[in-house]
Amino acid sequence: MTRKKHIAILGSTGSIGTQSLDVISRHADCFEAHTLTAGSNATLLIEQARRFRPDTVVIADESKWNEVREALSDLPIKVYSGTDALCEVVQNSDIDMVLTAMVGFAGLRPTIAAIKARKPIALANKETLVVAGELIMQLCVSRGAPILPVDSEHSAIFQSLAGEGDNIIEKILLTASGGPFRQTSAENLAHVTPADALRHPNWTMGPKITIDSATLMNKGFEMIEARWLFGVAPERIEVLIHPESAVHSAVQFADGSIKAQLGVPDMRLPIQYAFSYPERLPLDGSRLDLFAMNALTFERPDVERFPCLPLAYEAAARGGNIPCAMNAANEVVNLAFRESRISFAHIPEIIAETIARIPFEASATLDSYFSTDAEARRLAGEML
Ligand code: NAD
Ligand code: MG
Repeated sequence: MTRKKHIAILGSTGSIGTQSLDVISRHADCFEAHTLTAGSNATLLIEQARRFRPDTVVIADESKWNEVREALSDLPIKVYSGTDALCEVVQNSDIDMVLTAMVGFAGLRPTIAAIKARKPIALANKETLVVAGELIMQLCVSRGAPILPVDSEHSAIFQSLAGEGDNIIEKILLTASGGPFRQTSAENLAHVTPADALRHPNWTMGPKITIDSATLMNKGFEMIEARWLFGVAPERIEVLIHPESAVHSAVQFADGSIKAQLGVPDMRLPIQYAFSYPERLPLDGSRLDLFAMNALTFERPDVERFPCLPLAYEAAARGGNIPCAMNAANEVVNLAFRESRISFAHIPEIIAETIARIPFEASATLDSYFSTDAEARRLAGEML
């Protein structure tokens, strides 16, 4: 690479954010952390800023602004706070790529601001595409801003599509580990605790997505994410439970050929590929040892025990503001479950009830996504 790629990381203190800084530190000749932002973890943001010397940092939580500013006062680093600042800093002309690694609906506005400023997006924040996929994809086309997937499944699909040009995708095979409750009976699922759900077998991730993986809502979100990223109808996206997490997803073409990407579960690979695409850079670490694997197994998901998955297909089929309402209700119940305020079984119940009650809007606009988000949070909150 010629000039270093200047990267803005939205959510640098999280699971994806910290792993992306690891990638940047290993390829300091190629990448530079230009902007770092965090929600409220001032301590880690300060530590990262002192180490990576970005141009700008933003702490969304305004009460932490003074703490960050004072801790960095000896360095020439701009320090801002507040959610509006997130949307402003991503437009800096010196930024070459924006990694959206913040969690939830909060990622929508800054992602739109970055696309409007024609920044290539490395997209981890899948909720943005669940809520407003159609609008985001149209905006990317009109502004000429590419989206590079960071989610491991979507990176696998993207890698499988390399060199395929306009060849028609017959089917996407979206793999899922099955999460910590793959083999838990329906009776026992009623009694699982947040601690049980946070014990994911194959991946270490932030708390929200770990719960979404346990309910399979994460896979439903990924189906919607794939639909928009790759322009494939939901009926042609099939979920396969694959407990070994070796095949990260696959694409089936019109001639029946299936191309997949395999590897060890390590998010640094898809993060790095999004940063360096179309080049591949070295990545140290373990390699997938096919000889050491007894078998690669695939099962159909159990939609009775995991109703969030069919709920996501239903939301995708209805379209309009329904996926947005589903996302909002999920954010509410995900947190409520983590705080032991509801049981695991309440999660799909409240989401289903919310999308049944929300007034349907077929052609949703950005404004209506904001009003739907607020109304769905209110409805779901009432049901807790
Ligand atoms: P995380 O909770 O570990 O980190 C979230 C980051 O966003 C933190 O830096 C936090 O400070 C920041 N943040 C949270 N709320 C914010 C707000 N309101 N305003 C500004 N900043 C805020 O989450 P994560 O696991 O790194 O996931 C981030 C995103 O990436 C999610 O959308 C998730 O679905 C997606 N993703 C994560 C993984 C993974 O392995 N962790 C894999 C695929 C996709
Ligand atoms: Mg994923």
